[in-house]
Amino acid sequence: MLGRPWESGKINTICVFAGSSIGLRKAYASAARTLGKAIAGRGSRLVFGGASVGLMGEVADAALANGGEVIGVLPEYLQRVELVHMHLTELIIVDSMHTRKATMAEYADAFVALPGGLGSLEELFEVWTWTQLGLHQKPLGLLNVQGYYDDLLRFLDRSVTEGFVKSVHREILQADESPDRLLRLLESAALPAEG
Ligand code: AMP
Repeated sequence: MLGRPWESGKINTICVFAGSSIGLRKAYASAARTLGKAIAGRGSRLVFGGASVGLMGEVADAALANGGEVIGVLPEYLQRVELVHMHLTELIIVDSMHTRKATMAEYADAFVALPGGLGSLEELFEVWTWTQLGLHQKPLGLLNVQGYYDDLLRFLDRSVTEGFVKSVHREILQADESPDRLLRLLESAALPAEG
């Protein structure tokens, strides 16, 4: 059973994990832009990985174009691989991937994962396990664009029925295909009282 409800209105900064690739379907970039616009529209600040490429760039561009504040957090050595976004409200260059994740998590009141690859999955699972362990209490959502994450969600349910994940921890992850609905779900999300 989940514990206290998240205090509504407390999500000032939303961290978005997103693919450094654009994906094959146009719907992915379109969802990233809708999410960026929705974040700016509700007066929230976006924190993300600081790159201009892929869905990361799309969500940041859309938030900026709609008057939102955007903070990018990029490890120094990734500047060569992932083109740095030059028009952010603030760009924080850090020394490692670990510092990047910790910095993004520190800024965030909630997390959203757009479609992405290994990096996005790794980031999502890490902040999820931090909630599981009681290291922070921040809602977490998956933007399930055109069913991209359907198989993962099925597997996660299986990890509960097979006795490896507690349902209280599985329930932390919200999922929806609509950015607006997902943000509303995060606002009202209940989180475990302790890890
Ligand atoms: P991807 O979803 O693989 O396109 O990657 C999305 C973002 O996650 C990119 O900014 C990657 O640099 C980042 N990333 C990749 N691997 C890791 C990792 N092990 N830890 C944290 N971030 C990562």
